[in-house]
Amino acid sequence: MSSQAPKLGHAYASLPERFYSPAKAANFPDAKLIEVNDHLAEELGIDPDWLRSIAGLGLISGLDPPSNAKPVAQVYAGHQFGGFVPRLGDGRAILMGEMRGYDIHLKGTGPTEFSRNGDGKSALGPVIREYLVSEAMHALGVPTTRALAAVTTGESVIRQFGPEPGGIFTRVARSHTRVGTLQYFAAQQDTEALEILTRHCIDHMYPDAEGALGLLEKVIARQAELVAHWMSLGFIHGVMNTDNCAISGDTIDYGPCAFMDTFHPRCVFSSIDRQGRYSWENQAKIAHWNLTRLAETLLPLIDKDVEKAKEKAQSALTQFAPEFRSEYLRRFRAKLGLKDGSESFINTTLSHMADTGKDFTIFFSKLTKLAQGDASGDYFKNDWLTSWRAEGKADAHLMRANNPVLIPRNHQVQNAIQQAYEGDFSLFRRLLEAWKNPFTEQPEFSDLEKPPTESERVRETFCGT
Ligand code: AMP
Ligand code: MG
Repeated sequence: MSSQAPKLGHAYASLPERFYSPAKAANFPDAKLIEVNDHLAEELGIDPDWLRSIAGLGLISGLDPPSNAKPVAQVYAGHQFGGFVPRLGDGRAILMGEMRGYDIHLKGTGPTEFSRNGDGKSALGPVIREYLVSEAMHALGVPTTRALAAVTTGESVIRQFGPEPGGIFTRVARSHTRVGTLQYFAAQQDTEALEILTRHCIDHMYPDAEGALGLLEKVIARQAELVAHWMSLGFIHGVMNTDNCAISGDTIDYGPCAFMDTFHPRCVFSSIDRQGRYSWENQAKIAHWNLTRLAETLLPLIDKDVEKAKEKAQSALTQFAPEFRSEYLRRFRAKLGLKDGSESFINTTLSHMADTGKDFTIFFSKLTKLAQGDASGDYFKNDWLTSWRAEGKADAHLMRANNPVLIPRNHQVQNAIQQAYEGDFSLFRRLLEAWKNPFTEQPEFSDLEKPPTESERVRETFCGT
C-alpha cells in the first residue's frame, strides 16, 4: 500500500453537470483530527498513516484536498414528512470522489449551492453520534454507511441551544443516490437524466438488475430486509424522508435516530416527529410509501405504455409486504430461538414486553442466557415463559447470534458527546471499542449493558442541523 494521497475516482462527478454543483469546503485552518477508522481506510486502499498525516487532514477537513479530488454537492429532492420539496441537495456536505467504488463524502464543510438558509456546517455532536452509531450498526450486521474519520473544526456553530463546537464527518457509502435523487429529475420531467441515473445505479450497485423495473424490485427487496433488521434491534431511524432513503438499501443519515431502551411499538425520539410518523412500528409502512414514490419516478422507464408501467410497478410493490414479513418473522424467531415460532407468539411477546415495560435488548439478552443455561428465568413472567417453552426447544446458538449484548444506547452516545464538548474523547473511543463486538459478552464493558437510570434516560433526539 502506498503512503501517497488516495487516487480518487469520479464515477458520479462524471455524470452530466445537472447532477451536482461544484463545491468547495470552507476554510478551517484550526481543524484537528479526532479519529480515523484505520481498518476501513485499509479496505478502501487508503493508507491510514497518510490519513492521519497533515496531508490526510487536508482531505478530511476539506481544507486542502488532494489534487485529484473533485468536490461536488449532489442535487436531490425529497418528501419530508410527506411533503414534497423539489430541491434539497447536499446543503452541508460534499462528495470528494470515490475509492474502490465507495463515496468519500464530507459532512459539515460549509455552504454549497444547496444550503438555502443553513450554514452548511455541522456541530460536533452529530459527528460523534453518526460515527458511533453507524460503526455500531455495521458491527451489528446492518447494511449502513460507514465512518472513515472525524475532525473538530476549531470554530463554533450556532444551534438551537447556543454555540457548539463544529466538526466534520467523513462518511463512506456505496452510493449517496437516494429515492429523492430520482425524484428530483422526475419532478423536472427530465427522462434523459432519469435514464442515466437508473443506468448508473444498476451498473454500480445492482449489475444483475434488468432495467428500471429490475432496479425497483431490487431496492424493494433491500429496503424490506433493512427495515426488518432495524426493527429486530429496536432501531428507530427517526427521519425516513425519501431523501434519506438510499437506493443501495443501506442505512443513511443518522440524525435523530435511536435504539429503544424500554420497548414500545409507538416509540419515537425525534423532536420534530410530533405525529409519530416514523415510530418503530411504522417503519415498514413508511418504507413502502417511500418505495411507492420511487416507483412513480421510474414509471416512464418501466414501460412506454403508462397503464402497463403502473401495473408492473404495482406488482413489484406488492412484493414488499411479504418480503418484509418473512424477514421480520425470521429475525424475531431467531431472537426467540424458535425456528418455527408462531407469528402470534411473537406478537404476544412484544405486547407482553410493552405492557411490562421491558428493556428491548436486555429482555432478549437474558433470554439467551437462560437458553444457554447461564441464568435463571426470574426476570420473566411465568405465564410467558411457559408459552415460550411450549413453542419448541430454543436454539441458544441462534439466539446468541441475533441478540446483541450491547447496543449504542442513547444516553451513552449523549455522554460521549458531552465529554467531547469538554475536549475529552476517551468515552467516544471506549464506546467505539466496545461496540465493535456487540454480540460478545465483554467483562470489561459490562457496565455498558445497563439501561439508563430515570435521570439518564434520553427522551428526545434532535437533527442537530
Ligand atoms: P437531513 O435532515 O440531514 O436529511 O437534511 C435535510 C436537508 O437539509 C438536506 O438538503 C441538507 O443538506 C440540509 N441541511 C441540513 N443541515 C444543514 C445546514 N446546517 N446547512 C445547510 N443545509 C443543511
Ligand atoms: Mg439527509
